[in-house]
Amino acid sequence: MMAAIAAAGAGAAVTVYERGDRPGRKLFITGKGRCNVTTSVPAEDFFEHISCNPRFLYSAFYGFDNQAVQAFFESHGCPLKREHGERVFPVSDHSSDVIRTLTAEMERLGVRVRFGSRVAGVFIETSPGETEDMPHRCVRGVRLADGHVEAADAVVVCTGGASYPATGSTGDGYRFAEEAGLSVTGRSPALVPMEIAEDWCAELQGLPLRNVTLRLDVVPEPGQKQRKKRRPLYEGFGEMLFTHFGVSGPLVLSASCACTPFGQPLALTLDLKPALTPEQLDARILRDLEERHNKNFKNTLDALLPAKMIPVIVRLSGIDPQKRAAEVTREERRALVDLLKGLRLTVTGLRGFEEAIITRGGVDVRGIDPSTMQAKGTEGLFFAGEVLDVDAVTGGFNLQIAWSTGHLAGISAAGR
Ligand SMILES: Cc1cc2nc3c(=O)[nH]c(=O)nc-3n(C[C@H](O)[C@H](O)[C@H](O)COP(=O)(O)OP(=O)(O)OC[C@H]3O[C@@H](n4cnc5c(N)ncnc54)[C@H](O)[C@@H]3O)c2cc1C
Repeated sequence: MMAAIAAAGAGAAVTVYERGDRPGRKLFITGKGRCNVTTSVPAEDFFEHISCNPRFLYSAFYGFDNQAVQAFFESHGCPLKREHGERVFPVSDHSSDVIRTLTAEMERLGVRVRFGSRVAGVFIETSPGETEDMPHRCVRGVRLADGHVEAADAVVVCTGGASYPATGSTGDGYRFAEEAGLSVTGRSPALVPMEIAEDWCAELQGLPLRNVTLRLDVVPEPGQKQRKKRRPLYEGFGEMLFTHFGVSGPLVLSASCACTPFGQPLALTLDLKPALTPEQLDARILRDLEERHNKNFKNTLDALLPAKMIPVIVRLSGIDPQKRAAEVTREERRALVDLLKGLRLTVTGLRGFEEAIITRGGVDVRGIDPSTMQAKGTEGLFFAGEVLDVDAVTGGFNLQIAWSTGHLAGISAAGR
């Protein structure tokens, strides 16, 4: 949609082919329906948040950066607000307002949108080039799934990645790229929940934990020597969620970026009380036990932990649940402190594309001209958005990649 707006704004006659029956189905579910439309980090910090191929994005980003995106939406009737973590949302908290802004602008510029039109391939004409092994390739249009061929001077492929395929992004664009002679890197689900071996996670299904820290470490294989002080793959603070298969939530999704694709034994360590030192937590537990000295141990943690978590922690602590609070020993207390500040979870895998926020990998950016988004070697073929091998952490960065690359591809396509 942004590519169409940029191209039409530059004077081109534009048609959008959308396989679904409405625009922006993925956009609709972004940011839990609120759409974290971009980020308000200073432009010079933007690239630190890009996980793959940040340099490829320089031209696209500086041509239409996060300030420009905010100005676009605000000047087209969609006021925005900034929240913690430099996240930018529509003031209305409705992703539908972002979609409405884009569709209204497309309409104003005369963009034709054809719903229910699945593109089956890009029609490329090959003619002899200057040398035999370098034929001249030029886009002539698109072939639709119903067999029709639609003529075009340029085609911008914005088919998205392979994640959340129910929204329409089933990875068709990768095939279009390969058919045009481009290479496509291996794809894997990223920003994705984690599967955990410990079956007590399922008991806690639905329980969110706020203000916890999470660390992700590689576990040495049996027999493999533990290198001294290995740095964690990820460390972060925030919110997570227990699920029937393991863990999810913003903190876990961010951590998953550090182990995509998954291929080695990993462990998560949770600090449930990061604001307290072990000594402070010990003193706090001692006070709780003293205040509840006549109760059984299992009934003493209500001020410290969410109710759902208490039976699990009691079990993992190894302390007799029936023991009177007054009889809990100093060693038992210390072990409880260690447990709360270092709760270990064994990661057995990542969830699949169905649940991944983004796809890591995609059209190899070495085959794309970063100053235009045009495929090298094929005149008139452009790529933008998640179909490319670029991705970022959460916080509005992935949509900013789509806006920036879409805008550049649209302008370039119109200029042909
Ligand atoms: C649950 C969820 C929440 C997210 N939240 C955020 C967030 O808050 N902030 C953020 O920055 N990012 C977020 N993302 C990531 C972000 O939504 C994507 O990176 C972004 O939508 C990619 O844009 P795109 O235009 O490249 O692809 P998409 O948005 O996937 O759009 C691709 C479109 O192409 C259509 N299409 C595909 N193949 C064909 C074909 N052959 N013919 C015709 N049409 C076709 C599809 O139907 C689809 O409409 C979220 C993702 C998910 C899944």
